[in-house]
Amino acid sequence: MADSLRGLAGDFKRFLAAQEEDELLDISRPREEQSVLSPDQVITTAGVSVAKTTPKMAENSTLTVEFPRANVASSTPAAEEPAMNKTDKTHALEELAQVIKTCTRCPLGATRLNAVPGEGNVNADVMFVGEGPGFDEDRQGRPFVGRAGQLLDKMILAMGLAREKVFIANIAKCHPMTDPLHPEKHGNDRAPNAQEIACCRKYIEQQIAIVCPKYVVALGSVAAKALISDASSLGALRGKFHNLHLDSVELPKPVQILATYHPAALLRNPNWKKDAWKDLQMVMDQLGLKGARK
Ligand code: SF4
Repeated sequence: MADSLRGLAGDFKRFLAAQEEDELLDISRPREEQSVLSPDQVITTAGVSVAKTTPKMAENSTLTVEFPRANVASSTPAAEEPAMNKTDKTHALEELAQVIKTCTRCPLGATRLNAVPGEGNVNADVMFVGEGPGFDEDRQGRPFVGRAGQLLDKMILAMGLAREKVFIANIAKCHPMTDPLHPEKHGNDRAPNAQEIACCRKYIEQQIAIVCPKYVVALGSVAAKALISDASSLGALRGKFHNLHLDSVELPKPVQILATYHPAALLRNPNWKKDAWKDLQMVMDQLGLKGARK
């Protein structure tokens, strides 16, 4: 087990050290083995090669893009492996956050004030994933700290959890703006487009693989479509658990994902809160959570 943990930690170190896309896809094999890999293979955290899938992402498209189901999804689910310990997880997440903070893989890196890697409990059972940072998050470098974040905090508390017990992150780590020339403007937020999601998704995938929560709650259609790899409407994706499969890394153990409304959408449409609560109760039932005490 110790060897396995050391191997996982080593894989993440090499992932973080790799600068080029090709290097990032071939992180855990000895150099002499990498040379015989086909371009269609990637290496998992377990050191096993799986089919590499490249989502077809239309440039400057947000919701019309097709997110094909990853080939990994059709393979046999990963056998349960020993999880990384808390220290290894903390170290791997911190190193990943440092990489994100200096990342310029997509144009959002040139206009952000602060990258927002994400934060929370490295051993969380539940991980909440939104679409991207907004005005307040860009200034503070922390996820979900504006009005939508305050509502998310209430939703988490209502579940009988607390912000420090869960992990919170976004698909895109830098603030997508409708008018990037004026970052000081309020109401300047937009969803990340398909190209930005494609550039950034390996970071959220690595975070999910490191934390390896029991449940991921995708907040809003952009996060749900990207992570579930299904272009169906949020209405069609909500109300059921999906097996989570990632493109660039194999999960150490199976993770379920549930889609629900983004808190910002709930602020605009308070009548959707009842349905969002039903979604969260599905997770609560699975975890035996009784909800907040009155
Ligand atoms: S959004 Fe993601 S890929 Fe783009 S610059 Fe920021 S961290 Fe890098």
